[in-house]
Amino acid sequence: MVTGVSVIDHPLVQHKLTLMRDRTTSTAGFRMLMREIATLLCYEVTRDLPLETIAIETPMGPMSAPVIKGKKLVFASVLRAGNGLLDGMLDLVPAARVAHIGLYRDHQSLEPVEYYVKTPAGLEDRLVIVVDPMLATGHSAIAAVDRLKRRGARDLRFVCLLAAPEGLSAFTAAHPDTPVFTAAIDSHLNDAGYIIPGLGDAGDRLYGTR
Ligand code: URA
Repeated sequence: MVTGVSVIDHPLVQHKLTLMRDRTTSTAGFRMLMREIATLLCYEVTRDLPLETIAIETPMGPMSAPVIKGKKLVFASVLRAGNGLLDGMLDLVPAARVAHIGLYRDHQSLEPVEYYVKTPAGLEDRLVIVVDPMLATGHSAIAAVDRLKRRGARDLRFVCLLAAPEGLSAFTAAHPDTPVFTAAIDSHLNDAGYIIPGLGDAGDRLYGTR
């Protein structure tokens, strides 16, 4: 079982992350990089999935060949910035089921407010990979995993691009059974709850809303 916090230090991930941090990167460029980096993070977060063997016929004859065991994965996107990572994850695992967790951050309290939750059936038997690019205070991530657990999920992982130390501590304290995969751990949060040096508001940069 994977536990704790994994920093994905693959050179391609680090290179793309630097391009995403750069304030001069366009909306289209940022969105494309998010999608590309998500496939690389997806590769890492699924690296230890169990396999089983099935019988197939190649054009040359029969063989036993490995396939991923168990029910289809669930990607749970924390709206709206999670959708930027979701696209790249689905590029790699197109048959995955998708959950949407609609939470926005109240700008005063920084607490998450729920406005939409829709999840596939059978969460109890599936690996649920929660995606949200920015683990800042950790409040939304904690709330998203709370909601998925309430609906039956037992095997979860959390994938982000950037984490703040404050958010990581809060998240791992609230959900010690949910491993975190991130491309980097930054310095700190500012008073407005933004990650420093970070990359700004991931949703705004993805969708050009500022
Ligand atoms: N959400 C963002 O989009 N950026 C941050 O720095 C923190 C939270």
